[in-house]
Amino acid sequence: MRTLDDLLSAGVGGTAVLVRADLNVPLDAGRITDDGRIRAVLPTVRQLTAAGARVILLSHLGRPKGQPDPKYTLKPVSVRLGELLETQVAFATDTVGESAKETVAALENGGVALLENLRFDARETSKDEAERGAFATELAAFGESYVDDAFGAVHRKHASVFDLARKLPHYAGNLVAAELEVLRKLTTEPARPYVVVLGGSKVSDKLGVIQALLPKVDRLLVGGGMCFTFLKAQGKDVGDSLLEDDQVEVCRQLLAEAGDKIVLPVDVVVSGEIAPQATTRIVGADEIPDKQKGLDIGPASVAVFADVLKSARTVFWNGPMGVFEVAPFAAGTRGVGEAVRAVDGLSVVGGGDSAAAVRLLELGEDAFGHISTGGGASLEYLEGKTLPGLEALED
Ligand code: ADP
Ligand code: MG
Repeated sequence: MRTLDDLLSAGVGGTAVLVRADLNVPLDAGRITDDGRIRAVLPTVRQLTAAGARVILLSHLGRPKGQPDPKYTLKPVSVRLGELLETQVAFATDTVGESAKETVAALENGGVALLENLRFDARETSKDEAERGAFATELAAFGESYVDDAFGAVHRKHASVFDLARKLPHYAGNLVAAELEVLRKLTTEPARPYVVVLGGSKVSDKLGVIQALLPKVDRLLVGGGMCFTFLKAQGKDVGDSLLEDDQVEVCRQLLAEAGDKIVLPVDVVVSGEIAPQATTRIVGADEIPDKQKGLDIGPASVAVFADVLKSARTVFWNGPMGVFEVAPFAAGTRGVGEAVRAVDGLSVVGGGDSAAAVRLLELGEDAFGHISTGGGASLEYLEGKTLPGLEALED
């Protein structure tokens, strides 16, 4: 796989480089609540502009339905990007239309432009190879080489990730290269004990990774919204907690196969509502009342998880332990985050919301071995799947 260094040593001054970034930041009414993904791409952009290249950034944001939707404009991202780079970032109000053409044509060497949300064009995510290819051809016309720094999107077979790489000389950006280096460490003889902590909201999304990881890990700690489907599989009542009924049976089988490898919460924080002023109670995992939701793991669970983590030498953590965005339900994520941070060995955090939790709860990004910008991508890599974006960069 050729990297940004290879491109830089070939010389990029005076050329236009398309950089696929993952600028899919969390927004609250147009305000960026966490700019980690923007910061993550800065080193690649800076190196290219310093070498005199014209940088054209491409990204998606959210899930617009294949047509322009002001809710998902990248405009606020271009503003923040400009602040961080301390330079003017030209913003095109479309992807391959008049504005994009004018913006690219007007760009000076060393300048940076951002095109509008790629998913405003339905061809970006199309299952039809010809449609995606046509969109990629239009994008390819804007530059002479392609750098993929969108680690969070490498598991998608999308035009800007897969097809575009095949149309131009292609390189892995700093972020993709750094992410791969860490993931390789997790998949090739990790120091033991190797502990994986999983949380977040959807079990079905993560069952694949659980199945693939079980034989490889020493312990799997399960919290977050997904733990309730496991608790249900143990025959416990989970009240109004998140539950994926159709996955209960799979969870039951996983628990049967895993022996004591899978560790579940022993207590949970319950409430009738998700609100900053919510009244909460801590109850045993087998005493969740009717009409109450489990919204965080309780302190006894944090202690159990922390105890397992204390002896770990390799840890991968994906998915918050509770609804950390709302103060009364943040303690579990904070407690487990502190225990992961204290691990004597390699600690890797993967997942958009997990990384956001590290920043929001001020756990200190530098205290972790690595914070991955890509949740889905890192999980699929750990599962051993072929990631289309990486496949395209390989050949
Ligand atoms: P990541 O982006 O790190 O992979 P996910 O997207 O899987 O994580 O899950 C993150 C979301 O899970 C957060 O928004 C959080 O509020 C939610 N969550 C965690 N625990 C619970 C719970 N007990 N009930 C409902 N939602 C939860
Ligand atoms: Mg998420």
